[in-house]
Amino acid sequence: MRRIAAGKSSGVSKAPSNLPVSATEAPIIAVQDHAGGAQDVLRNRFGYSAFRGQQQAIIDCLCAGGDALVLMPTGGGKSLCYQIPALVRQGTALVISPLIALMQDQVRALRAQGITAAAINSSLGMAEQRNIREAAQSGDLELLYLAPERLFQPATLAWLQQLKLSLVAIDEAHCVSQWGHDFRPEYMQLAQLPQLFPGVPRVALTATADLPTRAEMVERLGLQQAQQFVHSFDRPNIFYRVLERSGGKDQLLAWIKREHAGEAGIVYCLSRKKTEQIAEWLSLKGVPALPYHAGLGAALREQNQARFLAEEGLVMVATVAFGMGIDKPDVRFVAHLDLPPSIECYYQETGRAGRDGQPADAWMLYGLGDVVQRRRMIEEGEAGDARKRVERHKLDAMLAYAEQAQCRRQALLGYFGEEQPEPCGHCDNCLQPPQTWDATQAAQMLLSAVVRTGQRFGATYLVSHLRGEHDPRAERWGHEQLSTFGVGQERSAKSWRSILRQLLARDLLQVDDSGYGGIRLGPQAAALLKGQTTLELREETKAAARVSRKAAPAADLSGEDQALYQSLKEERAELAREAGIPAYRIFHDASLVAMASTRPHSLGELAEVHGVGQAKLEAYGPHMLAVIKSAD
Ligand code: ADP
Ligand code: ZN
Repeated sequence: MRRIAAGKSSGVSKAPSNLPVSATEAPIIAVQDHAGGAQDVLRNRFGYSAFRGQQQAIIDCLCAGGDALVLMPTGGGKSLCYQIPALVRQGTALVISPLIALMQDQVRALRAQGITAAAINSSLGMAEQRNIREAAQSGDLELLYLAPERLFQPATLAWLQQLKLSLVAIDEAHCVSQWGHDFRPEYMQLAQLPQLFPGVPRVALTATADLPTRAEMVERLGLQQAQQFVHSFDRPNIFYRVLERSGGKDQLLAWIKREHAGEAGIVYCLSRKKTEQIAEWLSLKGVPALPYHAGLGAALREQNQARFLAEEGLVMVATVAFGMGIDKPDVRFVAHLDLPPSIECYYQETGRAGRDGQPADAWMLYGLGDVVQRRRMIEEGEAGDARKRVERHKLDAMLAYAEQAQCRRQALLGYFGEEQPEPCGHCDNCLQPPQTWDATQAAQMLLSAVVRTGQRFGATYLVSHLRGEHDPRAERWGHEQLSTFGVGQERSAKSWRSILRQLLARDLLQVDDSGYGGIRLGPQAAALLKGQTTLELREETKAAARVSRKAAPAADLSGEDQALYQSLKEERAELAREAGIPAYRIFHDASLVAMASTRPHSLGELAEVHGVGQAKLEAYGPHMLAVIKSAD
């Protein structure tokens, strides 16, 4: 990696030049000026003009020596909440983080801002570890990242306890909760932090906010005295949309080409094999894509991830193994080809879109197969009964979300305990409210067919039974003589599948645990069959696919500004190539849009642009000004 070539003006001096990010990392240049409060640090070292949401209150709390628990959605800006106190307070900040990739990404980003940070992990040699230790001991290290298992190695603990620590930050703090989906036993040891580092403020941060997880974090991390900061989980720039699956990958391709050509995105699939097939197929069709899953081998995984971060317009087709800690701000869409197991997972994954605050899409396909498959995965899974109950409960909530006819955002936020009085106006259901219809009679036909055929056949058989289609099995079992045979002839197979899916999602029907996908009556079915209750179902509409989100960041620029924006992007790409870092590390798209429309003509004016901090101003400012000048 090339040096970030910062200028040598006042306030900028050479940092300890021997701190590796990883074994292969070259040195950096850092700003050594510690002076200034939180506001100055935000302005001068990060280039942002204002705090977001509760950032200021959290930072004040930590700077004053208090503990904090921070619940903020992905992209909300958690990192600054401990990075700024780390710079304002004396000493080194310890940042506990579960993944090496996550740490290295953060350390690189900090260094690009001229901040001294390092990560200790197993890829470092003895000499490099010693360098980090010495830098910390001489007060030259502002942030030190490490995994909990590393922290609790006796040798590490011994020297850390000699250090002056500014604070301890526990990132991805929900990993301490067994209720959550990322439980890490090593996190349990973090309960010892107050005894090990008495008087050092602690902050735990996470994007998982349901109440059971929150309670476990407080309990297990000893944060009973901590001030809690619960941020709104709304991500207003994300457009939520759920579509009925018909064709799957073709729907995906058409949509990417129509709305996201040339943009970066993540496509989540359930199986490893599918990620590879879809990635290959997309590439073949002109959408550059890479696969990512746990079976790929560490080297290839790392390589694909690095390319996704560094290149523009790549699509990552991945299993859930991909994403934690991926801070790529310009991911323009997250697509789900398969239903996630819970709203927590869905929200966390979709939250990886649009971290830069620019319009982004959460797009999901959903069909009968998802319901059957997810229900079966739970029943056939290894988990104990108590855990299965939790999983069923979470899946039911996810299914209800997929099926519902009201505002998606209200439903999502409601799930996290956040009331939204009005429909959002920025989701598929708001823009095009789905029609509902009285499906009582159709549902009765389907339930009767399930009963008459013995509660052991799967979806395909039931649908052809209702439609009166010939099937050798029907003949063998004498099912063609049943009163339900052919009773639903006038309705299409697609429509029956939609009804079947909605009954399964509502637990009026259930998938049995025989492993063959047989369908039986659920607990509420009897009342409906007897005509004691009625049922409204959602009408499937094709048109939903056409609903469109807000336009891309640069769409409002005039013709001339648009041309300048393109030139600035080219310059940025050139700088990124030279520096060997991703383009967005140089400047976000939003900063370039602002430069193109306000056309600053001096470094002073350029410094006013959102996202232009001191280090970036000095490193790249003159290049940007030259481009702007030549466009006059
Ligand atoms: P999280 O860790 O909560 O997912 P990050 O800390 O990675 O989110 O922040 C998301 C993005 O928002 C980053 O690109 C970050 O630089 C940016 N950001 C954070 N705080 C601010 C702020 N006050 N002003 C402008 N941008 C911010
Ligand atoms: Zn809405």
